[in-house]
Amino acid sequence: MCGIVGYVGPKQAFPILMKGLYRLEYRGYDSAGIALIDGDLKLYKTKGKVSDLENFVKDKDTTGTIGIAHTRWATHGEPNNTNAHPHYSQSKNLAIIHNGIIENYASIKEELMKRGYHFESDTDTEVLIHLIEDIRNNEKVSLDEAVRIALNQVVGAYAIVVISKEDPDMLVAARKGSPLVIGIGDDDFYLASDATPIAEYTHDVVYLDEEEVVCVRKNRKIKIKTITNKDKTAYVQKLEMNLGQLEKGGYDHFMLKEIYEQPHSILDSMRGRVNAKKGIVKLGGISDYEQKMANADRIIIVACGTSWHAGLVGEYLFEDLARVPVEVEYASEFRYRNPIITEDDIVIAISQSGETADTLAAIELAKSKGATIIGICNVVGSSIARATHAGTYTHAGPEIGVASTKAFTAQVTILTLMALRIAHMKGTIEKSRFHRILNELEAIPEKVKETLKVDNQLKELARVFTYTRNFLYLGRGYNFPVALEGALKLKEISYIHAEGYPAAEMKHGPIALIDKEMPVVVIATNKGTYDKVMSNIQEVKARKGKIIAIVTKGDKDVKKLADYVIEVPETEELLVPLLATIPLQLLSYHIAVMRDCNVDQPRNLAKSVTVE
Ligand code: GLU
Repeated sequence: MCGIVGYVGPKQAFPILMKGLYRLEYRGYDSAGIALIDGDLKLYKTKGKVSDLENFVKDKDTTGTIGIAHTRWATHGEPNNTNAHPHYSQSKNLAIIHNGIIENYASIKEELMKRGYHFESDTDTEVLIHLIEDIRNNEKVSLDEAVRIALNQVVGAYAIVVISKEDPDMLVAARKGSPLVIGIGDDDFYLASDATPIAEYTHDVVYLDEEEVVCVRKNRKIKIKTITNKDKTAYVQKLEMNLGQLEKGGYDHFMLKEIYEQPHSILDSMRGRVNAKKGIVKLGGISDYEQKMANADRIIIVACGTSWHAGLVGEYLFEDLARVPVEVEYASEFRYRNPIITEDDIVIAISQSGETADTLAAIELAKSKGATIIGICNVVGSSIARATHAGTYTHAGPEIGVASTKAFTAQVTILTLMALRIAHMKGTIEKSRFHRILNELEAIPEKVKETLKVDNQLKELARVFTYTRNFLYLGRGYNFPVALEGALKLKEISYIHAEGYPAAEMKHGPIALIDKEMPVVVIATNKGTYDKVMSNIQEVKARKGKIIAIVTKGDKDVKKLADYVIEVPETEELLVPLLATIPLQLLSYHIAVMRDCNVDQPRNLAKSVTVE
């Protein structure tokens, strides 16, 4: 979490850094700050959002062609002005911004305090800048060397950028466990947590690797070393990102824009991978490993949050189509519970950002036991994409809203393609079914577009339930993960308590909650478990609960019972999650807007969860 951005070059740094902070604000937004060098090392920071920082510096001197900036998601020390980044070193000659956690900060701090260092903040970060200064002074080394030596003493995760008043044309940065991208302009350099602040200036980027230190200077070549002092060559890649993807494009919120992008994002995630006419599904990224996947006795899916829900849909898909047992694991639990993993296992790791700390740790653990790791990520070049043996990008485009929407449907799309591919190879799917599903998949983007027409209906519904305190979401089969995801969306952005449950489980507990105040969202599309879900609806009605039903177009039976009905187009049962999720996203969105919540940046959350 935390967004970091840095600039050095001939241009004024301030506007570039501020724009960068706005782009990275999804990563954390409890405080923000900026440091610039123009003779002096000026540092401004404040509690609150990037816009608060912008107001705060209005009458201040913001000149300088080198600078660093930060938007914080506090881990150590409350979000206040002092704990905001950047942090000065003791002499105020250096400043640092940091994303991550220095786990052994307490012992280093104690040692530095004994040596007379004073600490202004409660952060772990401040320890690091004092340590760097201490090393630089005592060992008389250059700044990049001091950073490198300091990082050898540090346990934890970091992406850092350091500037020095004495080297006013140089940025030193490093990473371990938190992402850092370097943009290479004609005569300038940009550093950032992801490529979004860089995309409008240059498309040449270098993704810094684990435990690497980079030093960039005006008019000089980029210099990269490992923290163990080995020289590395910078591998320059082309960034495929356009500005339109980073702006709201007329929508009130990124989340709404991203909900509406789903016909395209789903299409993009399938592009070049499905050809229904020829009966082909191919995923280039996993082709070297697909035989191994087909031979596997078991697949383990590891993920967190919304990606975990996509993983659950994946379980149903792989078991149904490819007849292989699947376990879906919370990465945070998996990594700490001594799981049984063998060399024959396939582990599929799912993460939008590709930076999720727990998922990365789960990958490392499974890798150390010899398992084959397949990634499903949205962010190209991300840590997970690089830590896996093979994988498939979702190609959903940048997702800025903190609550995931289009990334979820893209992940489900990719899992559907993978399951189909493996099923086809293993011969566990009948030809006719395979072709039917492929045809239907190609029709899904149009059907998503059709589904989005329920938006106004959901807005009306949101008006009715704006101030409801609890919600229950029920579904069975493929719609059970959809219920979980619907409940999560509502919690995340409207702060209403919501639970997702397998519909039949309701009677083992949550039914006690049902009274006339309780809205129950039931995903009751017309396949497999339809009759069973009908009975579950009856159980809710008998206790005067209010039913909001998501049904297949033309449904008659559920309509008779439900208080509110939302229709989605007819499709194959296993593809229903791609449609049924949409009204639930819209419902949470409209309720959150009506409750005056900050939809794109909900309280306490951040998008890319790089801390465990
Ligand atoms: N640990 C640092 C702080 O609390 C950085 C937090 C983060 O990266 O989320 O200030």
